Amino acid sequence: MAEKKAAKKAEKFDPKTLTYSKKSGWDGINEAKMKEIMNFAEGYKKFLTDAKTEREAVNTIFELAKAKGYKNIENATKNDKKIFINFDNVACVLAEINHTDFDKGWLMVGSHIDTPRLDLKGYPLYEKEDMAYFKTHYYGGIKKYQWVTRALALHGVVITEAGKTVNVVVGEDENDPVFTINDLLPHLAQEQMEKGARKVIEGENMNILIGSIPYSFKYDKDSVKLAILDFLYKKYGFKEEDFVSAELQLVPAGKARDVGFDRSFVGAHGQDDRICAYSALQAIFDAGKTKENKFAMFFDKEEIGSKGNAGANSNILERAVNKLINLYGKGDYNTLINSLANSRFLSSDVNAGIEPEWAGAFESMNAGKVGWGVCLTKFTGAGGKGNSNEAHAEFVAKCRAAFNKDDARWQTAELGRVDLGGGGTIAMFIAEYGMQVLDVGTPILSMHSPFEVASKADLYNTYLSYKAFYKYL
Ligand code: MN
Ligand code: MN
Repeated sequence: MAEKKAAKKAEKFDPKTLTYSKKSGWDGINEAKMKEIMNFAEGYKKFLTDAKTEREAVNTIFELAKAKGYKNIENATKNDKKIFINFDNVACVLAEINHTDFDKGWLMVGSHIDTPRLDLKGYPLYEKEDMAYFKTHYYGGIKKYQWVTRALALHGVVITEAGKTVNVVVGEDENDPVFTINDLLPHLAQEQMEKGARKVIEGENMNILIGSIPYSFKYDKDSVKLAILDFLYKKYGFKEEDFVSAELQLVPAGKARDVGFDRSFVGAHGQDDRICAYSALQAIFDAGKTKENKFAMFFDKEEIGSKGNAGANSNILERAVNKLINLYGKGDYNTLINSLANSRFLSSDVNAGIEPEWAGAFESMNAGKVGWGVCLTKFTGAGGKGNSNEAHAEFVAKCRAAFNKDDARWQTAELGRVDLGGGGTIAMFIAEYGMQVLDVGTPILSMHSPFEVASKADLYNTYLSYKAFYKYL
């Protein structure tokens, strides 16, 4: 009898069920799901448009969190369960406390809100050929030639000697002027065109055109520069020396846009890594009441190595958890160390989507395919996984099981072909605390360019995967 049963079972067995196949984020969905994906992207586009610098991102995150009942830790008591922590206006934390047994650790999702762009130098303003310019120093890994001859907006703050903060945003309103970097006309570019892409536009030539009318309509030495200073003083109340204590950034002007006839993509600057930041934000809002304590951190300085006091390669995470456990009267060293070590962390950063025109840079079986879900990246690094955190298989299994529970579409992804290059994320810095860390993020096209492209399906599945992590881990 038992033999017969076994034989019947063997007959029914289909070996095809053993194969793993990725599933596209668009595959088999219905109209209702399509609507959810499209609606979610509308909120994301607004976030990208409102939060073009890390400071604007911190403000925007706090505004959205306040509406969900989060309170700044500065005015919170232990009766508050939803807490916001601000670090120098450039990084922040959202935490939802569901128990005070902090030794058990937290469910954490960590993204970064800085992005490649052009920063003004400390002494930026000069005049040449009766035109005024700002000198810049680029921030993060960019292809410099992508940033010339396009409309740029100026965002940031100037802190005066008296400590007054002046907010500056120019170039976003349709009636605002914009700024630009000029390039040599092709007719005279024979020498330039012979140069390699690194040298076609050099860092010292990335100067921003800002004006040309002389002070009092009278040409004199530096009279155009003087007219600009006069304008800045009258409009914003700051002087040339104040640039030294300013953080002013040039970013592509304009709103995030839909891309494609079917509107399946979002195009905008800064999607690395605000696509993960926005997904994490909505996930912590929407995961509902859970047993575990939830935590979302938004770091600064990832694009320049996670250094500085608001980068992941500092003790910022430790300071955040310490502030929280102190609020609830559990602030001893043992609890802090255990709370960190027993946490589980998704390093939420974007991955490279396969670019079909540069297919040779990718290994298609293990590269992120745009539209095919959030990327699950066990390790990053270069040259034999160098400088990467490698997630433990046990933790990967738990995350994958959680994602599958809510049908969050995911795919495995390495950053490019073996031996080609590579890159790192914050994962390795976080793992130093002893916690489990896995890289999970959205595949992106044209990463670090002024107009990055992401699939709306991948955005939505990134959100679903983070939400499932908060719900089930
Ligand atoms: Mn990133
Ligand atoms: Mn990046």
